[in-house]
Amino acid sequence: MKIIPVGAAGEVTGSCFLVRTCGGSYLVDCGVFQGHADDDGRNLSFPFDPEEIDAVFLTHAHLDHCGRLPYLHALGFRGPVYATPATCDLAQFILLDAARLQTEDFQRHYRRGRRTGMPATPPMYDEQDVLHLLRYFHPHPYGKMLPIDSNVQVVFHQSGHILGSAAVEIRNEDSSVLFSGDIGSPGRNVVPDFSSPPRANLVFCESTYGDRLHRTEAESVTELAEAINWAFAAGGNVVIPAFALERTQDLLFDLRALREAGRVPRNTVFMDSPLAINLTKVYEHHIGDLDDATRALVKAHDDPFNFDGLRQCLTPGQSQLINGQNGVVIVAGSGMCNGGRVVHHLKHNLWRSDSAVVFIGYQASGTLGRRLVDGAKKVTIEHEPVRVNARRITINGFSAHADQAGLLQWLGHTGDAHIVLNHGEPSVSATLAGLLTESGRSVEVATPDAVYEV
Ligand SMILES: [Zn+2]
Ligand SMILES: [Zn+2]
Repeated sequence: MKIIPVGAAGEVTGSCFLVRTCGGSYLVDCGVFQGHADDDGRNLSFPFDPEEIDAVFLTHAHLDHCGRLPYLHALGFRGPVYATPATCDLAQFILLDAARLQTEDFQRHYRRGRRTGMPATPPMYDEQDVLHLLRYFHPHPYGKMLPIDSNVQVVFHQSGHILGSAAVEIRNEDSSVLFSGDIGSPGRNVVPDFSSPPRANLVFCESTYGDRLHRTEAESVTELAEAINWAFAAGGNVVIPAFALERTQDLLFDLRALREAGRVPRNTVFMDSPLAINLTKVYEHHIGDLDDATRALVKAHDDPFNFDGLRQCLTPGQSQLINGQNGVVIVAGSGMCNGGRVVHHLKHNLWRSDSAVVFIGYQASGTLGRRLVDGAKKVTIEHEPVRVNARRITINGFSAHADQAGLLQWLGHTGDAHIVLNHGEPSVSATLAGLLTESGRSVEVATPDAVYEV
């Protein structure tokens, strides 16, 4: 087998591996590049002919792993996309949402372009492309061998990152390769811990947080309770920018537990995101794939993601009605505040010294979220200057990615496999590689377009 990293080599986003065997050509993931000025151009080019790809194996439903699949399909790929049943269900909502956002973005730029003379770039794909692709999705469960051709087999292993996430093992008669996908921290709520990966000849492993240790989830939940209690005592609101997939469901689980335990008052919580509402339903349809504590709640006829006082906002009108309220928690996207409904909630709450904005996810440079985390005293929202008087609280322990200790634990199961680290900033991957070398493992950091062979 020959394996070529097409993306996420020396960087975090754009996960995609081209795997060539004597029987065919396959992809593991087909994700978008995010966060750089040249992303548009990179997202539109593949260093292979999409028509010659026989199948795609998808590790999970985050856009940096699945976001280019509809474009691959539009360019002629007609093979099956194999993923766990939960990933298939999550990916349809994620991809349809991505198509809608691209189309809206294009329409906005097109209107502006007519006034300014600047051309607008058409969307990478639209909803029709996504719907056409979805007919090629094939759900396949964890732990069961999937024969691809007379020689190649694939197995999905639980990776504990988000609902449905999997490490992908590809093996033939005499060798095997393991792709970690994204790996979650052991001991988290909602998603189960990763299962022990199999021994392999070669392992491609993510290294997003390979240079640091996270605080525990229990410490983070306590910080969240303190933030809510402070704002409610002051008479204000709590705004929580949250990613719709996994982070929102984790947060609902924790908010429910805090209320049940009497650690925060049972004031109204608004979940203001149609995408998050749809994805939470997928979680409820795949309870069997969640961790023991979450399944125990369901067995006791309790809903782990719902509670008295939770209000779901589907329409923009429902979202607007939240403005002007006091003593409420507002959970809304986007997670980095660079769009979505959270923006108008920030406009209505940032100026208030009795309110808090709680950041529970990574804030990339250049986003409104990052400017707020960095302490900006004034920001511009919807062309209006807004003073920032609200308390800003950053909580670091809610990460869906394993830290250094978690990654070492996962890799510890892979025997004496040669390790190639990807999905990380170069200096971070190098730190983890140094530790692994010290412990006697054979390791290197992935190079884009290099050819790895087993
Ligand atoms: Zn991910
Ligand atoms: Zn990722």
